[in-house]
Amino acid sequence: MFVCTGYAAQDATTPLAPFTFERRDPGPLDVVIEITHCGVCHSDLHAVRNEWGNTLYPCVPGHEIVGKVTAVGAQVTRFRVGDTAAVGCLVDSCRTCENCRDGLEQYCARGGTGTYNGKDRVSGGHTFGGYSSHIVVTQDFVLRVPDSLDPAAAAPLLCAGITTWSPLRHWKAGPGKTVGVVGLGGLGHMAVKFARALGAKVVLFTTSPSKVEDGARLGAEEVVLSADAKAVAAWRSKLDLIIDAVAAPHDVNMYLNLLKRDCTLVQVGAPDRPLPVNVFSLLPNRRSFAGSIIGGIAETQEMLDFCGANNIVADIELIPIQDIEKAYERMLKSDVKYRFVIDMTSLPRAA
Ligand code: NAP
Ligand code: ZN
Ligand code: ZN
Repeated sequence: MFVCTGYAAQDATTPLAPFTFERRDPGPLDVVIEITHCGVCHSDLHAVRNEWGNTLYPCVPGHEIVGKVTAVGAQVTRFRVGDTAAVGCLVDSCRTCENCRDGLEQYCARGGTGTYNGKDRVSGGHTFGGYSSHIVVTQDFVLRVPDSLDPAAAAPLLCAGITTWSPLRHWKAGPGKTVGVVGLGGLGHMAVKFARALGAKVVLFTTSPSKVEDGARLGAEEVVLSADAKAVAAWRSKLDLIIDAVAAPHDVNMYLNLLKRDCTLVQVGAPDRPLPVNVFSLLPNRRSFAGSIIGGIAETQEMLDFCGANNIVADIELIPIQDIEKAYERMLKSDVKYRFVIDMTSLPRAA
């Protein structure tokens, strides 16, 4: 075991604070990464405040991790000391169930091991995430970041990126399709960038008048203020796919009504309360209301390579870890343009 420093929540109401803990020494297939950057996902906030009711404390959040490899186990073939490496929302899974064999580790029948708040398959106890100095991960769950990408701006690709990429690919966003994106936050802004890069026409729905210009700059052909019922209704039965990335309770029926025949609204945002669906939003046009969780490891690498080839990263604001609570408060006010990323050099080495 070796000592790491990080930031942790000790319970649902106390601010995050410096925390010292141990990680396992690298086994034969493990990669040790010194973390340089970690994105701040709204899921971190849901978790530290126990909004989903399943948080294990102390909780060290963070699953948008980029860093440098500082050690590798004897049998590691895919990474060398000094490489830039990344870790997303999963650090392990059973690897034998049908979903794992299909490369869909996020749907592992025995439960994938979350990067934080997961049951640690190797060391026991629960996993600690990327608001920390180092992480130890088996090589099959470590990703490569294309050299051309800025590591800080690439970090959010590991969750916000893959969570929007996966449904866009699965539901075949591309030329000739019109994709609606609801909510311009960390996930939403990646959905806009990806849908556009895949060749679709993008319509953004936002609650924030201050984001209209950015929506267009990021790739939306039309930006609709969701408070403007008439402007929303103008899109009735016109969209091929909707990615809803809103973190709070809201009316999904308003958006379901915008789907064409046989089309799907994919809920990726995960509010802590149910989203009531009126069946009369679904019956016309044989519409579907679906969900999607992050993405598999191979798919995550495919997304990172696509970003390398197309020069796509997140729009970020770099923060020192000491500002994490301020960042959470701004996130709650939808005031993130469009992802906070922690500069891990700000982490006190001795907590
Ligand atoms: P975020 O940066 O806070 O963005 C959420 C956006 O939702 C806001 O920027 C805002 O956009 C909109 N919004 C917020 N409150 C709203 C309200 N009351 N009504 C309508 N719109 C509202 O969050 P994020 O990191 O992108 O995460 C979004 C959600 O996805 C979270 O619930 C998170 O836990 C979840 N998530 C799910 C997965 C998955 O695997 N499915 C993965 C990662 C995250 P506008 O200002 O444009 O309206
Ligand atoms: Zn996330
Ligand atoms: Zn499995």
